[in-house]
Amino acid sequence: MTAAAPRVAIVGAGPSGLFAAQALLNGHDGVRVDVLDRLPTPFGLLRYGVAPDHATIQGIQRALRAPFADERVRFFGLVELGRTLTRDELVAGYDAVIYAAGASEDRRLGIPGEDLPGSRSAREFVAWYCGHPDAEEQDLSGVTSAVTFGVGNVAVDVCRVLAADAARLAPTDMPQPVLDELRASTVRDVWLVGRRGPQHASFTTTELRELLTLDGVQPLLDPADLAGIDATDLDRRVRGNLEALRTAAERVVPEARVRLHLRFWQRPVEIVGPDAAAAVVLERTAPAAGTAVVGTGETEVVPTQLVLRAIGYRGRPLLGVPFDKAAGVIPNADGRVMRPDGTPSPGEYVVGWIKRGPIGVIGTNKADAAATVAHVLDDLEASAGAPTSGLEVDALLAAHGLQPSTFADWEAIDAAEQARGAGSGRQRVKVASWSELADLVRHGRGGGPLEREPDAPAP
Ligand SMILES: Cc1cc2nc3c(=O)[nH]c(=O)nc-3n(C[C@H](O)[C@H](O)[C@H](O)COP(=O)(O)OP(=O)(O)OC[C@H]3O[C@@H](n4cnc5c(N)ncnc54)[C@H](O)[C@@H]3O)c2cc1C
Repeated sequence: MTAAAPRVAIVGAGPSGLFAAQALLNGHDGVRVDVLDRLPTPFGLLRYGVAPDHATIQGIQRALRAPFADERVRFFGLVELGRTLTRDELVAGYDAVIYAAGASEDRRLGIPGEDLPGSRSAREFVAWYCGHPDAEEQDLSGVTSAVTFGVGNVAVDVCRVLAADAARLAPTDMPQPVLDELRASTVRDVWLVGRRGPQHASFTTTELRELLTLDGVQPLLDPADLAGIDATDLDRRVRGNLEALRTAAERVVPEARVRLHLRFWQRPVEIVGPDAAAAVVLERTAPAAGTAVVGTGETEVVPTQLVLRAIGYRGRPLLGVPFDKAAGVIPNADGRVMRPDGTPSPGEYVVGWIKRGPIGVIGTNKADAAATVAHVLDDLEASAGAPTSGLEVDALLAAHGLQPSTFADWEAIDAAEQARGAGSGRQRVKVASWSELADLVRHGRGGGPLEREPDAPAP
């Protein structure tokens, strides 16, 4: 390495990786940055998590794409760490490697029946309606009652998408088959279930209020869940949530299309089959020490054909990179990756959800990435001149006979999605399959074959 042109690889082109790229550009004139992603599309969960009916948030893409306008930055799509390239190759080839791979797994309920057809994670459901190419098709035919476990904004998002009328979803960028499936939905009861009280829920008030005031949706709550809560020490968000819930409890929606059942102090005990989810058994809970609850033995059976657990995303281990299984993150000291022996691993860093877990909004990742990048820059200065293999991503891939996709390829996908949108009176219609994404990349290159076809869905 020379002090003038350090080379940094960033694994993951989601918000945290792109904020890190921008912070590197701002902090070092000579730096060169390669951003890798397993998908040919950048933006991570901004594209594949943020709800399609929250289109204004997609405006953040303008800020996130800024690094790619700088010639010091390159995008390598269809490059998966642990599959296309190894951690050792990257660490040997670059002066610093920043892991920004997000949290692509989910927590489980750990109850009987959880793996029955019809029971799945909200993450899978979100990936489907956002058009992620790995997502499995969701069949809502015959679903009249859907139960969601969890009391955060992801639970609110999936309940809103399930309860919303066609007019709300029609202008979004959802892939056409998703929109058609939701339009034909026969869901009439949506349940949102939390183990603790409304004062403990992590919803934000704007999102909660939006759900509670949806057209044609009748909120149903037990007023006892809202009674007797001492608001003195509660923060503004929680007080706002309680106020929104109290207002909703009094709302009467004539000829409601959907009933929205908000159930607090209930925990799932079992998902009942036999061949597919047909009901969930809930048990009333009571507060115990700290954040724990105890079951009271009072149970209730809720008929349902769709069970979604929205109880948290978790990081997936990256092959060869230290991982804290319990926390689902890469162990780190303020962004410096820590080895199992408690010492920092030179040249390895981490940002975003794989650093701190699935908490915070997109903007939270900006300060978080800046904090890590400050250490990267300090360490680069201290280690100036340390040798590397000099093999960057393009050379490494060529050695494996592989070809990545580029930022220009993403721009071709982007243009095609906007053209599809224009054809149906929408701003964009997402391309959701690996084969169509590959066709667009191929087409942008004049129709030639891709040396590496995008892979089938990851297991
Ligand atoms: C359902 C949902 C809705 C949300 N809605 C909002 C919202 O409305 N507003 C808001 O502010 N925030 C929202 N968030 C939070 C926001 O999305 C996150 O804060 C943010 O996306 C985290 O960024 P990240 O870069 O750490 O991870 P991600 O966004 O997950 O990006 C990680 C990237 O790494 C890539 N990757 C993973 N593994 C590999 C590998 N092995 N090799 C190469 N690449 C890899 C992935 O393809 C992905 O592109 C939402 C989150 C979810 C889950």
